[in-house]
Amino acid sequence: MQTVSDYFGSLVFDDRVMRARLPEKVYKSLKKTIDEGVSLDNQVANAVAEAMRDWAVEHGATHFTHWFQPLTGITAEKHDSFISPSPDGGVIMEFSGKELIQGEPDASSFPSGGLRATFEARGYTAWDPTSYAFLKGKTLCIPTAFCSYGGEALDKKTPLLRSMQAINKQALRVLKLFGNEDVKCVRTSVGPEQEYFLVDREMFDKRKDLVFCGRTLFGAKPPKGQELDDHYFGSIKPRVAEFMEDLNEELWKLGVLAKTEHNEVAPAQHELAPIYTTTNIATDHNQLTMEIMQKVALRHGLVCLLHEKPFAGVNGSGKHNNWSLATDTGVNLLTPGETPYENAQFLLFLCAVIQAVDDYQDLLRLSVATAGNDHRLGANEAPPAVVSIFLGDELTAILDAIEADSPYNAAEKTVMKLGVHVLPKFIRDTTDRNRTSPFAFTGNKFEFRMLGSANSIACTNIMLNGAVAQSLKLFADELEKADDFEGALHDLIRRTIHEHKRIIFNGNGYDDAWIKEATEKRGLLNLRTTPDAMPTILEEKNVSMLTGLKIFTKAEIESRYEIMMENYVKTVSIEAQTMLDMTRREILPAVERYTKELSDTLASKLAVIPGLPSRYETGAITKLSTLADQIDAQAGELEQAVLHLKTLTSVTESAFYIRDAVLSRMAALRVVCDEAETVTDERCWPFPTYGDLLFGVR
Ligand code: ADP
Ligand code: MG
Repeated sequence: MQTVSDYFGSLVFDDRVMRARLPEKVYKSLKKTIDEGVSLDNQVANAVAEAMRDWAVEHGATHFTHWFQPLTGITAEKHDSFISPSPDGGVIMEFSGKELIQGEPDASSFPSGGLRATFEARGYTAWDPTSYAFLKGKTLCIPTAFCSYGGEALDKKTPLLRSMQAINKQALRVLKLFGNEDVKCVRTSVGPEQEYFLVDREMFDKRKDLVFCGRTLFGAKPPKGQELDDHYFGSIKPRVAEFMEDLNEELWKLGVLAKTEHNEVAPAQHELAPIYTTTNIATDHNQLTMEIMQKVALRHGLVCLLHEKPFAGVNGSGKHNNWSLATDTGVNLLTPGETPYENAQFLLFLCAVIQAVDDYQDLLRLSVATAGNDHRLGANEAPPAVVSIFLGDELTAILDAIEADSPYNAAEKTVMKLGVHVLPKFIRDTTDRNRTSPFAFTGNKFEFRMLGSANSIACTNIMLNGAVAQSLKLFADELEKADDFEGALHDLIRRTIHEHKRIIFNGNGYDDAWIKEATEKRGLLNLRTTPDAMPTILEEKNVSMLTGLKIFTKAEIESRYEIMMENYVKTVSIEAQTMLDMTRREILPAVERYTKELSDTLASKLAVIPGLPSRYETGAITKLSTLADQIDAQAGELEQAVLHLKTLTSVTESAFYIRDAVLSRMAALRVVCDEAETVTDERCWPFPTYGDLLFGVR
């Protein structure tokens, strides 16, 4: 039998394959490109392309594609076959260095937020040699970045790579000041925990809301939901276990380090966590994971729902972005070190994150803003829309002591001095973990918990890397000028704690009192919805940070704003129209059918024995008729709103109109429809109920 180590990464053109198949010189120069970003020459590219093609063809591949991440949120690929005619009437399999390095997909229908109109009509894809090529079916997929001919990024990978470069550059400056001369590179790592739901495919197909929107727009609460907490970490049902087994095998073959899986809080909800890896690879892998999850689910007669809030009344799904910063020499910069000097360095990096999260709360918030995620943030299941940091009591006490120049430990008499005292190790406390914080320090990494399950992790990491790079830049600017490094360092750390400690909160993030304190006393932002959050990307401080670090150009920022807002508007518009369709063509007819059944029963009873008691029938008919009228009226209101929306030309105006007028009408329509469900014969109800969906997979 094949063991996991036999087939792990078997579909990946990874380091093992490269070393075995490339001439040594070519391998070395490719490694230099991967590790140090040195650009690739043509000869090397040709040699790599040849080896890649041979390997792929031996594995049954017939096509190749430049695999990229346009701003639609999913991945895109256009397949070209390797075949090229040979003079004897046959074909040979061809693939050149040029085809490996650059592609020209017909990009006109990918969103560009006006970028392509103002610059160039076509876009091109460029190979990202830092993320391995892999096989999907019969296609060799080459991870690429996607840009316009003017060089503007039209994808998520380009700015992500730029943000990694920015943080690398600034972190190296800081590390130099601490005498770390041997460090050549600093990379951010991410381990994204992915939540999802599994529902039966036959039931899924019967619900237009799931088919068109990925979430239910109607559904009365079932008698049982998640109140017993009996699903979390519960034993995995056989059908789900088979799915997970299959999923793991596919992911492992693709070199994705799928590590843990368990049931989540809501019924039918599960989670998969990978072992962390370099951010751009983690991003590629997370996209692949989502894609493979959906594909494998179908094979098992299931549908994998990645939507942030597929069901009202039960928890939605998130994606925890575990983030850390490490050197190529293997040091995690978010771990307190062994010596006082290393501790000072740790504290400085910690302060960089604290300042970054405080200064750029808005960017972190908007990096997770989507129509779907708006249903989660602030509901009592996910972090609030207010960004804050959890550090834990011990670390907070240390920072407090440093700020106040007072002894850290009451028993100690001496004041903690950077460069003299060793910090205690912050052992991760697994019994008392704060799960309500949007941004939690967990011993050697930060866990950003606001991300929605369907979101690409790229945007969050772009903003996080950018914000931390900016703090590090300011720190390096200040410290490089100092004559007395230790004194300047001490002052800087103290000042940063003092100025940014408002962002630290160790209490319960779900508590209403916290939101009040955060916004009223501490002046933190509470950007509740996507239209509230998104415009902040255009603020001067944000534009100047992102352009200053060369992560985005101004035009790219503006285009992204347009695309994100448009996406919000389109998503909710589709939902509203789906609701109208389901209401008028399924729900109202069902209610009417059942009313007729009751009326027929009543009439035939009275025909047999006039004056027979008929309290039940009369009451039910009256209730259903009243509800039908209310449903019709609410649908009319929603329709008016949808019609008005179509008259608005600005995407900003449309988004605000949705926030203020459309969503509330959708909610009002749902209430009456859900009530009708509870009083209609279940045989008449036109689609599977919450009970069917949530408990239907065994
Ligand atoms: P949990 O948060 O559920 O208690 P773990 O702490 O074991 O679980 O890990 C959760 C995720 O954090 C995993 O995906 C793991 O790979 C990732 N992770 C662990 N250490 C790091 C690190 N240093 N940097 C980034 N991610 C990490
Ligand atoms: Mg976690």
